[in-house]
Amino acid sequence: MQDTIFGKIIRREIPAEIVYEDDTTLAFLDIAPNSPGHTLVVPKKPSRNLIDIEDDAYLAVMQSVKKIAVAVQKAMEADGFNILVNNEPEAGQQVFHTHVHIIPRYKTAAFQKFPPGKPNVKTTPEELKEIADKIRSAVTS
Ligand code: AMP
Repeated sequence: MQDTIFGKIIRREIPAEIVYEDDTTLAFLDIAPNSPGHTLVVPKKPSRNLIDIEDDAYLAVMQSVKKIAVAVQKAMEADGFNILVNNEPEAGQQVFHTHVHIIPRYKTAAFQKFPPGKPNVKTTPEELKEIADKIRSAVTS
């Protein structure tokens, strides 16, 4: 796997505002926040995104996400938050080390979609069924 800027943060080769660390995960502030308190949680073991992350690393990250999201909401007095993972460039991924965004939301701020959203696609019930059939067949145990 190619090294990334998040690998450098994990190894303390470049600075970051680290807010939490345990044996397998690290959480730090996003350098270009979508809202105040925007935090990233990463597994220490490199993976590209949710497509290739191992189950134990994924579970550890999501456990930290829950812990840190609650702390971020409390510390920032946020009214809610989004949890988001961008997988692959077409979905907005820019850093290819798995990371989960925690984005606090505030009543006082207009909700900003992240990344900027497209309008909903109009879909018939037949199209929904066709899509659901494809996904059901693709689910692995
Ligand atoms: P993504 O588009 O999902 O790959 O998100 C990458 C995120 O990493 C963006 O929100 C960036 O602002 C953030 N980012 C990039 N470099 C750094 C850095 N050195 N420290 C903290 N956050 C960073």
